[in-house]
Amino acid sequence: MQKFGGTSVGDVDRIKAVGDHIARTVRHGNQVVAVVSAMGKTTDDLLRLANDVSSTHPGRELDMLLTSGERISMALLCMALADLGVPAVSFTGSQAGIITDTDHTKAKIVEMRPDRLLEALSEGRVPVVAGFQGVSLEKDVTTLGRGGSDTTAVALAAALGADFCEIYTDVSGVFSADPRVVAEAHKIHKISFEEMLELAASGGRVLALRSVEFARNFGVPIHVRSSFTWEPGTWVQEEDETMEQAVVSAISHDVTEVKVTITGVPDRPGIAAKVFREIADRGINVDMIVQNTSIDGFTDISFTVPKDDKAACLEVTRAVSAEIGAREAYADSGIGRVSLIGAGMKTHPGVTAMMFEILAKEGINIEMISTSAIRISCVVRQDDVENAVRALHEAFEL
Ligand code: ADP
Ligand code: ASP
Ligand code: MG
Repeated sequence: MQKFGGTSVGDVDRIKAVGDHIARTVRHGNQVVAVVSAMGKTTDDLLRLANDVSSTHPGRELDMLLTSGERISMALLCMALADLGVPAVSFTGSQAGIITDTDHTKAKIVEMRPDRLLEALSEGRVPVVAGFQGVSLEKDVTTLGRGGSDTTAVALAAALGADFCEIYTDVSGVFSADPRVVAEAHKIHKISFEEMLELAASGGRVLALRSVEFARNFGVPIHVRSSFTWEPGTWVQEEDETMEQAVVSAISHDVTEVKVTITGVPDRPGIAAKVFREIADRGINVDMIVQNTSIDGFTDISFTVPKDDKAACLEVTRAVSAEIGAREAYADSGIGRVSLIGAGMKTHPGVTAMMFEILAKEGINIEMISTSAIRISCVVRQDDVENAVRALHEAFEL
């Protein structure tokens, strides 16, 4: 399984280079299935077009539009392969048998029926699959959420029993921080599914979260590597004794969320349940939650949600607020999140204290905190995010 991201198929020369690489892999005696993203910034351009045309984007139509990007890449790559004498055949997500639920723009895969891919493979052809898309149980075209081509690739790797899944991108692997923010970040040679899950969930864009969940659940090793240098990259796999248990392995950041606050919430059993039930029923994922101590029976609740869900979330939150007698609900778009990830944190106290001290030394105020066994996240002002990442990277000597 070889997946090529947007930059990797960004122009004609890149598509030819990818074709060359697949041809070489085939000539080494491998059966290859390729998954492609839309060329360069195509998906962003299509979204801009949608915004220019209308402020209402019915999910079904948005998915029709967005899936066209990947169709272009798959057809062009097959033509490039034909030129190289490698028989290839393109498939949309639907043709590849990727069945999803009906949740447009962030559909979940519910079933894989890759019969046509198996047939192509048995005929000695290279299936080239459009990433990021599937077909719903109601037979409509769906997309899997931004970055979803990674999920297509890993899910297909699992369904086809591939030995591993190669994710080709524009960096040479998974780094100790986003190399675009920290120039000194180093490449991690091996990382466990658990650490990668936390990294992907907290903004480490290099792999889509859902793809790592699939990889862990089905035991598919992922090799993240560069389609520019083709050098060996990072293996994401089951934890083993050859992995160093660093206290802190990586620092991630995320500026794609907003903070929603409800003030004057009556502090009674069942109120938080009601608020978050209504939000969940709208299909909105809540991330961090903070509730203040109650004063005179009223409290404030803050939580973070994806920027894309801001309007929908405010709508429901304001409606529930009125119902439960809360004062007001508002959103703050100027936040960002910085996270430390490391399996060794489990057995090393003091990491949280050190993180807070480093942020304090930089004069960075912490607005929200959340932790898991192997991650600490702080919400700070968006303008402070890059500074925070650099300071933490240096202080933890990554
Ligand atoms: P693709 O189009 O190939 O899917 P993405 O843009 O989705 O590529 O993901 C690759 C980008 O992820 C890199 O260019 C890099 O800026 C970013 N990134 C964020 N965190 C990390 C990290 N820890 N290691 C490597 N890359 C990272
Ligand atoms: N083209 C889609 C996006 O830009 C899917 C992907 O690249 O993984 O989000
Ligand atoms: Mg991506």
